[in-house]
Amino acid sequence: MRTMRALQITRPDGPYELRELPVPEPRRGELRVRVEACGMCHSDVFAKSGSYPGLVLPRVLGHEVAGRVDALGEDVRGFRVGDRVGIGWNAGHCGSCRACRAGDFPNCVDGQVCGLSYDGGYAEFLVCPANGVARIPDELDAAHAAPLLCAGITTFNALRNSGARPGDTVAVQGIGGLGHLALQYAAKLGFRVVALSHGASKEALARELGAHDYIDTQRISAAEGLQRLGGAALVLATAPHAAAIASTVEGLTPRGKLLIVAVPDEPLAISAMALISGRSVAGWPSGSAIDSEETMRFSARAGVLPRIERFRLEDANDAYSAMMAMRLRFRAVLVP
Ligand SMILES: [Zn+2]
Ligand SMILES: [Zn+2]
Repeated sequence: MRTMRALQITRPDGPYELRELPVPEPRRGELRVRVEACGMCHSDVFAKSGSYPGLVLPRVLGHEVAGRVDALGEDVRGFRVGDRVGIGWNAGHCGSCRACRAGDFPNCVDGQVCGLSYDGGYAEFLVCPANGVARIPDELDAAHAAPLLCAGITTFNALRNSGARPGDTVAVQGIGGLGHLALQYAAKLGFRVVALSHGASKEALARELGAHDYIDTQRISAAEGLQRLGGAALVLATAPHAAAIASTVEGLTPRGKLLIVAVPDEPLAISAMALISGRSVAGWPSGSAIDSEETMRFSARAGVLPRIERFRLEDANDAYSAMMAMRLRFRAVLVP
């Protein structure tokens, strides 16, 4: 039997374990991808802790996958062996539920998440539904395309669907894996961009990535800092800290929106009074395969690239520890 190297989680709170597993065969409607790179996402924490609903162990994680089509199952149309493709969080939908019929694939009742519903990209190969696959433009190499399949699409798609218009003040809370992409997208989309971070150490980087203003929340509250700039039409929350996210609400304009793409453990404490003016709080669900394609094409054209650190599969546990301890400044990318 042909085998491949893959990282498995075999028990809750366990490490990534390097294994030799059979190379999977694509079934009807699926294709096999030879993985060239896979980004590591903070949401691995939900799988690792066993708290993700319906997760069955052992599992190969990884939902920021870039690679090439290696084999086609029956009835797969539109892809050929050798095509460059990516797979993100929302990576498979039923096509017949109410959400799918409305074209809202990320909210499919039977939606599949790469690396949680089926084995993902921390491996040399994976098999996935063809309807969850996005094309990678030639200009992007695999290691830089990979983080765009989750961190990139999530922030780009949230921003472009937020209702904020060019010229509006848009604040990005957090400058990590998601935030450093959000700042670049926000600048390229024509917003006045404000970076929010704790401490002064990230100011130079934030400005390099496109921020026009920087608020150090160690010196001044997010709300006061934003109000001094006239208030934000939109705050995009990208770092999973409940108090830091909640503290931005009073920095919004009267009808401004707090849009959340990071998931803290604790609930958000937000004063209802602060919302009465017409402010709103909402979340954003990443996007579908076509959104991933549009994200990658925009990124290639606009010059938005993730900053990455490459790791080998055998060093995944080091990458995870560094990510959880905030020692990684950007996206860890595993290269099998
Ligand atoms: Zn993710
Ligand atoms: Zn569906």
